[in-house]
Amino acid sequence: MAVAALDRAETWSDDERRAAQWGRLFGALPELLLANAFYRRKLADAGVSDVREITALADLEFTTKAELSQDQTEHPPFGTNLTYSTDRYVRLHQTSGTTGRPLRILDTLDSWRWWRDCWRAIYRAAGVTSTDRVFFAFSFGPFIGFWSAFAGAEALGSLCITGGAMSTSERVAAIVASGATVLMSTPTYALRLAEAARQEGVDLVRSALRVSIHAGEPGASIPATRERIESELGVTAFDHTGATEVGAYGFSCEARDGVHVIESDFIAEVLDPVSGAAREDGEGELVMTNLGRWGMPAIRYRTGDRVRAVRGRCACGRTLLKLAGGISGRVDDMVIVRGVNVFPSSIEAIIRTFDEIAEYRVELVAAREMNELRCGIEPRPGAGVDLGERVATAIHRGLGIRCLVEMLPPGSLPRFEMKSKRFDRAPTSSSATLGS
Ligand SMILES: [Zn+2]
Repeated sequence: MAVAALDRAETWSDDERRAAQWGRLFGALPELLLANAFYRRKLADAGVSDVREITALADLEFTTKAELSQDQTEHPPFGTNLTYSTDRYVRLHQTSGTTGRPLRILDTLDSWRWWRDCWRAIYRAAGVTSTDRVFFAFSFGPFIGFWSAFAGAEALGSLCITGGAMSTSERVAAIVASGATVLMSTPTYALRLAEAARQEGVDLVRSALRVSIHAGEPGASIPATRERIESELGVTAFDHTGATEVGAYGFSCEARDGVHVIESDFIAEVLDPVSGAAREDGEGELVMTNLGRWGMPAIRYRTGDRVRAVRGRCACGRTLLKLAGGISGRVDDMVIVRGVNVFPSSIEAIIRTFDEIAEYRVELVAAREMNELRCGIEPRPGAGVDLGERVATAIHRGLGIRCLVEMLPPGSLPRFEMKSKRFDRAPTSSSATLGS
């Protein structure tokens, strides 16, 4: 893609970016502090009484999920992070609830349009246009991701096809019958679709699908997973990141080595886990501020996602911040196995290099006061008898830890449509499986 095709905001210098982002946030602060009880209280707690005392992002406090959750408990049902009266809001969505009680999130018509517009950058980078037919392999429940993606594709002029309330084989049939060219799903579910298609004698490589965009897990930024999706579906696979509380903020470009942050609409910061300092790049927890959802904003929101953020000009021409390798996991997902820091995504990166594995599950168990990894793998037909041994060797080589690998019967592990739960912890007992 030529640089000329990019938006001006995608090639900002650092100074241009900072000025534009701060201008947009600062422009909204007076109304916010006047009308939004949640943020007015936070500012007052921090000793700020006048918006003119705020001269930099660092003057504003972080927002945590625990705070928002507590606020909704104390002020049901929506909490106090509302800038307008409730009749101004047109949509209610909920967080997935994988990390605590679901949060209720409201959007006004304006902020919903903003969500939709954020998707423009994501689709454009993947080469999706008005001539595409986009299939959404999701349930269309209360989670915001696919609703916003659907609205974004519709605004683009694409033909939007919902895959809600369908079984996996019904979805395969619908993709083929409708001539869908773009698939939206989690990385895991894309592989599940390919598996179901094979079982029914359908080769999705020969279907009209040419692009896939994935979210919910980092798979599309993990080379082995991405290559597998691409070869099994005959697509070019792209990654996307977003959060219900924040917005649809990230997309992978043709370099596909991570996701760019849409910095015209979001301010990203990285919180150093050791010093607690927030920086413009580096490794740590992603902190996000959105710049267009003023009805229920997120200011310096701690996402809990662990990233390695890199600045500079990408091969695609963009100067937008890049989260290298996508989101490597939740900050609290990291486990320590015999002194080695391990993320679920680093295990996935190794396991997905084995074509003979259909599905897998990793369990962390406490054995003799030490954490130990156990991995269950479901082999595909024709897998070698030494598969378990080869996987254990690869994990040992790649991560420096020993892992007990167990072969499981075909079809015994769940295939997830939403965020996959392949990583179980049983920290207090050697046999119990918790956290799934
Ligand atoms: Zn790029």
